[in-house]
Amino acid sequence: MAIAYLDHAASTPMHPEVVEAMGEFFDGCYANPTGAHRMAREARRASDDARDILAEALGARPGEIVFCGSGTEADNLAAFGAAADSGGPGGTVVCSAVEHPAVLRPVEQLGGRVVGVDGAGMLDLEALAAALDGDVRLVSVMLANNENGVVWSLEEVAEVMARHAPGALLHTDAVQAFPWLDVATRAAPADLISVSAHKFGGPKGVGALVVRECVRLQPQIVGGGQEAERRGGTPNVAGIVGMGRAAEITVSRRAETVERVRRLRDRLADGLRAAVDGVTESGVRPASGAGVPVDRSAKVAGSCHLCFEGIESEALLFLAERGGVYASAASSCASGAEHPSHVLAAMGYPRSLAQGSLRLSLGAASSEADVATALAVLPPAVTQLRRAAA
Ligand code: PLP
Repeated sequence: MAIAYLDHAASTPMHPEVVEAMGEFFDGCYANPTGAHRMAREARRASDDARDILAEALGARPGEIVFCGSGTEADNLAAFGAAADSGGPGGTVVCSAVEHPAVLRPVEQLGGRVVGVDGAGMLDLEALAAALDGDVRLVSVMLANNENGVVWSLEEVAEVMARHAPGALLHTDAVQAFPWLDVATRAAPADLISVSAHKFGGPKGVGALVVRECVRLQPQIVGGGQEAERRGGTPNVAGIVGMGRAAEITVSRRAETVERVRRLRDRLADGLRAAVDGVTESGVRPASGAGVPVDRSAKVAGSCHLCFEGIESEALLFLAERGGVYASAASSCASGAEHPSHVLAAMGYPRSLAQGSLRLSLGAASSEADVATALAVLPPAVTQLRRAAA
């Protein structure tokens, strides 16, 4: 049976070149990069090369990259680290209602403020302005959403901050943005930027936080002073090398990948909308007339997110998998959970519609065959579930 892997936003396969580049650091150059001898220096050099590559890809200086264990850790370091540092104003943290739990949970634990979005998934800038004051230390808003794929302008956010909380830091979770967008440009207004290697063809278990030179953060893991005292723990050299190689490949092929994948995604979304009634596609502007294409320009190229009326995602995922289609209901963390997506709730979707959500996320490895399989499997699955429920 052909498998259509359409869960790239959860994790995307490693590029073969990444696997190859990492191998040497498992089985040859295995020294601790903080050591003084030759093998240690070699490991350090390889990590530093990866740091240079990632810095360039993110519009940062090499010394501003803090390697860590995941995108989640990078987000936690930004939120908890900024709130705990006494160098800036207040300690209040603010984030959007549709952040990944790696930001949302820390902000909740810190008693922070949460700002809403509109029905299209765009940040409510007036609500943001109202949530800001001189006590705010950090504003955290994502660059691209992990469920609906909607991209935000950090320039607009920075403008609002300059008027209402000029001393606050801006953090962006760019974990889902990096495969598709020029993060160096789009995240230029941010003081802190999170990324995660396994979302762009690198290994799981390695992430990075850009911490601009002028920003002080309280480290959340303390130990041997690694990463210039910002994150303790022996660095994951193979993972860091893999992340660097994956970043290099992603940037060099991004324009071609985005164009190709966008066409595949449009064919998939248009095909499903044509084949099934009662579908709401999130993060898009409806077609303004017959024959006019749906406007998906606010979304990253790999995102196709639909809600099917009258069905439950779990049942649809079961039938999809039986037909060889691997997808998820909401984000990778929320799928399988009984709670409807907090992203769709924030967008004002009624529970009855949100419970039928399906995230089909494409990646650099996606193909025409994946789209064909999904278009063959999903419409009959929806029909079968609706019939069973009638
Ligand atoms: N932020 C966003 C937007 C994500 O989509 C994810 C993962 O799904 C994370 C953070 C967490 O990254 P990691 O899986 O590396 O912990």
